[in-house]
This record gives sequence, C-alpha cells and structure tokens, in this order.
Amino acid sequence: MKKDTHINSGKTKSLFSTDHEDDLIIEFRNDTTSFDGKKFAQLNNKGMINNYFNAFIMEKLSQAHIPTHFKALLSHTESVVRKLDMLPIEFVVRNISAGSLCKRIGIKEGMTLRPPLFELFLKNDSLGDPLINEDYVTTFNWGAREEIIRCRELTFQVNTILQPLFLEANILLVDYKLEFGRSNGELFLGDEFTPDGCRLWDSKSREKLDKDRFRQNLGQVIESYEVAGRRLGINFPHIEEGG
Ligand code: ADP
Ligand code: UDP
Repeated sequence: MKKDTHINSGKTKSLFSTDHEDDLIIEFRNDTTSFDGKKFAQLNNKGMINNYFNAFIMEKLSQAHIPTHFKALLSHTESVVRKLDMLPIEFVVRNISAGSLCKRIGIKEGMTLRPPLFELFLKNDSLGDPLINEDYVTTFNWGAREEIIRCRELTFQVNTILQPLFLEANILLVDYKLEFGRSNGELFLGDEFTPDGCRLWDSKSREKLDKDRFRQNLGQVIESYEVAGRRLGINFPHIEEGG
C-alpha cells in the first residue's frame, strides 16, 4: 500500500489517497480539540491509542455485520479504510444524559434514558454543529430519507453490540457519535469510534474515561483512554515517552 497525496486534515485526523483507488489512509494525530475546535492541545500517544482503539471497535462491529470502512491497521497511527462520500451529519445515541443534552433541556447529568435518545447534528463547526432532524436532511438534500432510516437503524444496532461489550469491561456506554458515508450505492460506518467521540464511565464509580476529561480539565486524558482500551482487551504497542 503506497501513501499518495494528502487529501485533507480535519481537527484530529488526516486523510491520504493510496495507489488503490477505493482506499484511503487515515492518520490519527496527537491533536485534541473540543468546543468545535476552540480548545486545542497535543497529547502524547493519543494518535496511537485512538488508532488501536478504533481498529478494535470497528473489527467488533464488522464481526457483528455492521458495514464499516475499516480495512487494516497500517502503522501505530495509521489505518487503511474504504474511501467514502461522507454525509455531513453526526448520528448520536444517548443511553445516559450528559453534555449538550443537559444544557439544552436543563436536566442533570447521569439520568438513564429509556428508550435511548437518537439525535442528528449538522457537521458544521462554524455553526456549532446545530441539532437538526430527518426533515432537514431531505429538504436540504444532505441525504435521502431511506439513507437516514438506514443510518438510524445501524446507529441503534451499534448500541446493541457495544453496550454489552463495554459493560463486560465495567464501562457504561453513555453516548456516542457516528458518521456514515456512501460507496458504490451502499452506506458504511466511517470516521472513528474512540473515546474522542463517545462517553465512557466506570460502571461503579462513574469516573469518566473519555474526552470529557479534556473538556472539563480533569487531567489523565490519554491514560484514561488507555485504561478503557485495556479493560476491553486491546493490546496497545509499547507506549513511548513523548510519542
Ligand atoms: P473533523 O474536524 O471534521 O471532525 P477529523 O479530524 O475527524 O475531522 O477528520 C476526519 C475527516 O475525514 C472528517 O471530515 C470525516 O468525515 C472524514 N472521513 C472519515 N472517514 C472517511 C472515509 N472513509 N472516507 C472519506 N472521508 C472520511
Ligand atoms: N461528539 C463528537 N463530535 C462532535 C460532537 C459530539 O464526537 O462534534 C460526541 C461527544 O463526544 C459525545 C456525543 O457525541 O459522546 C454527544 O455529544 P454532545 O451533543 O453532548 O456534545 P458536546 O457538546 O459534549 O460535545
């Protein structure tokens, strides 16, 4: 696999074309951002931890028949993925109240949500990723109604697969964000599943093991990502000082 041209760099990952037309290389960088990019830091080993975390979860989802873009780990910080035409939408499922939901409707963090809540956000940092609904997607031509129905179904299937997986590791899957894209007329789960894009709490103490540690200046950010990963059984490579 030959790494070709740099295609784009988002806030935390970079994409490169390859000598295979349908494949991309996705590089997880050490960059960490929150509040739509307004808070920024570089955290040692984050790229590597997230690359391995993502590979582990994507493989579990593929085994459970979720179509994902993930193909293979390429290096400590890079993976090969299927090139997708991404929908500009974030698909969120919440099992427990936290984050923007609490602010929006004035509820406390930590309420169990039954049934779990499904939300759509437009992926647009300058607008602060506004909450939208299915009708916006069709009216503004961001996707077909059937595509949104399929993404919703896949997003809930992911919950059914991952909730027990995390629970076995004594972790509550509080909420998560997914992104989907098209390839040859089919929808695939793209982007990443890492502690950057979900909330993970220790099931007893409710200690946070995700990006809220960065958002809320709780410290031990990457150490907590690693704790969550190790509990799931992920074998991270030897962690280098300053890597
Ligand atoms: P952002 O700042 O947009 O959150 P990231 O740093 O996460 O960006 O960069 C990843 C970008 O690559 C995102 O825009 C995401 O939608 C896109 N992306 C993720 N997976 C794929 C894929 N398989 N094919 C094409 N684009 C992808
Ligand atoms: N999320 C994300 N990217 C975003 C916005 C949210 O990955 O641009 C994730 C976030 O980590 C959490 C879930 O989606 O797991 C719900 O986030 P919320 O709406 O509470 O947003 P917050 O304001 O806390 O980012």
